[in-house]
Amino acid sequence: MAEVGHETSPHFALPPDQEAVVGAAFALEPASTHDYRLETISIEQNQVRVTYRGPGDALYTLVCRHPEDDPDRERRTKSFTLQGDLPPALLDLVEASLRAREGEVRWRDLRNETRKKKRGPQSLRDAELLAFLRGVKPALRRSTADLERADELVKTIELSSRAACRSRCEVRLDGRQWWVVYGASTMAEAMQLRRLDAPWRVTKAARAHDNRELGRRLGYPNCCVEGFVSRDLRMGGWSRRWLGVTTHYRHLAAREAWSEQSRWELNPHLMGEGASLISFEPCSYSCPAALTVARATFRALYEEDPFAAEELERRLRCTLAVDADGHITRLEYERGANQEIVRLRSASPVSETFGQTSSGAATASAAAAKRADIRPTPPSRLKAGATVVVEFGGPTDAS
Ligand SMILES: [Zn+2]
Repeated sequence: MAEVGHETSPHFALPPDQEAVVGAAFALEPASTHDYRLETISIEQNQVRVTYRGPGDALYTLVCRHPEDDPDRERRTKSFTLQGDLPPALLDLVEASLRAREGEVRWRDLRNETRKKKRGPQSLRDAELLAFLRGVKPALRRSTADLERADELVKTIELSSRAACRSRCEVRLDGRQWWVVYGASTMAEAMQLRRLDAPWRVTKAARAHDNRELGRRLGYPNCCVEGFVSRDLRMGGWSRRWLGVTTHYRHLAAREAWSEQSRWELNPHLMGEGASLISFEPCSYSCPAALTVARATFRALYEEDPFAAEELERRLRCTLAVDADGHITRLEYERGANQEIVRLRSASPVSETFGQTSSGAATASAAAAKRADIRPTPPSRLKAGATVVVEFGGPTDAS
């Protein structure tokens, strides 16, 4: 299934209620007139994969897709293009059988459904969701403050023949309420993700175990998961209010991940604005393993929608300040001939949930704007709790 996602854009899907109709269309009846028998049939998202048994017990596999997903195949009917190394006699039989029954087959046009939905500002797209639906990512964990959006996401995933479930109740984090959606290849796996994702385990050991297992199943790199687990153990939870820890988990994560060569692909701080390639905190903003994951997601988006991919890159390349309270501020500098920083031009708050800016973030950006000396500085040279500034850049050749 995974390789299918790379090959074509799944603009169409065969919903589960089409199984009987599709089965009949590929059955090659009446069986008395030829030597081929339908052996297996499976509907996989945007394609039907069938095997036939022929004379001498030979097996033949045929993959059929919606004609518009495969514009240059030679053999096609109104509803399918046929791809497979089959004897011409068998291909003739399949074609005739499809022509007779395909009027009943109903494809679901996913393009219309996405067109109808409101697109985000400047056509940003959910790159990770796309990568998951195309088989590039093994699973997906997505949180949203909006129940309707969460349920819509579950439906989108199910339409692509994947499984999804959401948190049974709102999850409180950072003083906000979130709904969390889990997508996986099977419902059992999606539910397992939900089981593992319980931040308030009784013992630290149990929480570390579940976090490791969750990270592994979501395809996050080991080094980055270990970084998260270690911070989580030190902080005793998500919030600075616990155990008298003085800085926010986001600030601590930024401090630990800071790198002279921070890569725009690994910028995790604009998720609230819908711009991200990863949904984990990388162990370093130049972590090679995290970069591999982020690039695979970027490629999936680029193949589907190059304009959205370029827009996403443009946004992720930026300089951000993370203060001790976890507020993120976008900094813009006036630069010299060699891109060196001349002076701070502007500081603006980054929204933590789509379209909303907290008063804390607004205060943080106002404070940053007053600091003429605010610059990307290695955290080793900063005092504890000082605002961390990261410049997310790096080469363009993400492919
Ligand atoms: Zn890492």
